[in-house]
Amino acid sequence: MDMSVFDLFKIGIGPSSSHTVGPMVAARRFLLENAPLDDVTSVTAELYGSLALTGIGHGTDKAVLLGLMGETPQGVDPDAVEDMLAAADVDGELRLLGEKTIAFTRKQHLVFHMAENLPEHPNGMRFTLARADGSSASRIYYSVGGGFIRAEGEEAATDGKPAVRLPYPFNTMAELLGHGVSSGKTIPQMLRANELTRISEAELNQGMDRIWHVMRDCIQHGLETSGQLPGGLNVKRRAADLWRQAQGGDRANQLPHDALNGVSLYAMAVNEENAAGGRVVTAPTNGAAGIIPAVLKYYAEDCKPVDPITGVRAFLLTAAAIGMLCKRNASISGAEVGCQGEVGVACAMAAAGLVAALGGSNAQIENAAEIGIEHHLGMTCDPIGGLVQIPCIERNGMGAVKAITAASLSLKGDGTHFVTLDNVIETMRQTGADMQAKYKETSLGGLAIHVVSVNHAAC
Ligand code: SF4
Repeated sequence: MDMSVFDLFKIGIGPSSSHTVGPMVAARRFLLENAPLDDVTSVTAELYGSLALTGIGHGTDKAVLLGLMGETPQGVDPDAVEDMLAAADVDGELRLLGEKTIAFTRKQHLVFHMAENLPEHPNGMRFTLARADGSSASRIYYSVGGGFIRAEGEEAATDGKPAVRLPYPFNTMAELLGHGVSSGKTIPQMLRANELTRISEAELNQGMDRIWHVMRDCIQHGLETSGQLPGGLNVKRRAADLWRQAQGGDRANQLPHDALNGVSLYAMAVNEENAAGGRVVTAPTNGAAGIIPAVLKYYAEDCKPVDPITGVRAFLLTAAAIGMLCKRNASISGAEVGCQGEVGVACAMAAAGLVAALGGSNAQIENAAEIGIEHHLGMTCDPIGGLVQIPCIERNGMGAVKAITAASLSLKGDGTHFVTLDNVIETMRQTGADMQAKYKETSLGGLAIHVVSVNHAAC
């Protein structure tokens, strides 16, 4: 399959890869596809399905405006976003791609179709522009999870990269394991060889080191930042206070399970940053962005590896392989298969990555990944108020601990296991297909309707 480690791990901003990152990319792409823009007189963005139902809570409205301004998820300054949007709202104008100013108000030009879906995916959006000569252009895009987008009719999410011939092509775990048997290579070695068909070794290593650097910074910022999260639920940030307590506490009176708290807090710190619209890395989504950084930090610091740099790279390559399989054969979109496809997949990726970094065999990597997903099967997506806060933040803390448990169970065995990763991914796909829409990132069921929500009432 033609996916890269950098497709799974993308530097962006919170709070959602499918509802923030994807729409921002789509809005910008629409304008780039329709350049030049000098005679454009109006632009309208219409949001459908889950993007409409939870779009306000997920910041989709802001993301669309930023994309129309020409901003990218990796390039936009999270600290400047609110000022940029406020200026646009006050002026009633938008500067398209930083080039052409048009009249634009959210009320008139940003339309939420709460009761309608577009046919190919629950996260649909349509952009339309009009020109001075009376002509117009319109295109539909889908945000299909993890920041991936595709236009209507496109077979797969793509950013226009040419297809390459991979030394170890795989569409299933069975194929990847087969290559491992015939080549004698580990999963991270095969993924590395595949990546090197696209970029140089130096670019690959620098890119992965940068991903880890941003993840580490995100954890640190989250562990240092207290206060309240935006959105109207008045959710208090907890990671920093709990981290301070853990650091200054009476070590002699700590209980054995207190050791697990650090990993949960790393994950929660990332997801609090995400909920606040901070700089995060999709892993494989924003909603599930805390699990992999937390387990990576646990590996790099607590496991005391001899060569952490090499280990972190092996971790990321292996985690990416699992994410690619889940994306290709099921989904990493909460709007498509529920939270099993976000937190469940992130847990599987982290578990597999940790096993690889600790020198486990290919069979043990598969074993850890299948355990990671298996115990999230059926998990719904029901964020309160459409905000990526409750249950998402704690859920990442739990997912990180589960990933370490899955890796540990696998490493204690010899790789023999009953359920294959391909089996469990197919099970996730079918479970997601059977799941009612109200449990798939619509905030129409589950916790979202059993807890009073300021934001949802406002929608
Ligand atoms: S419940 Fe899970 S899938 Fe849904 S928004 Fe939260 S993290 Fe994402």
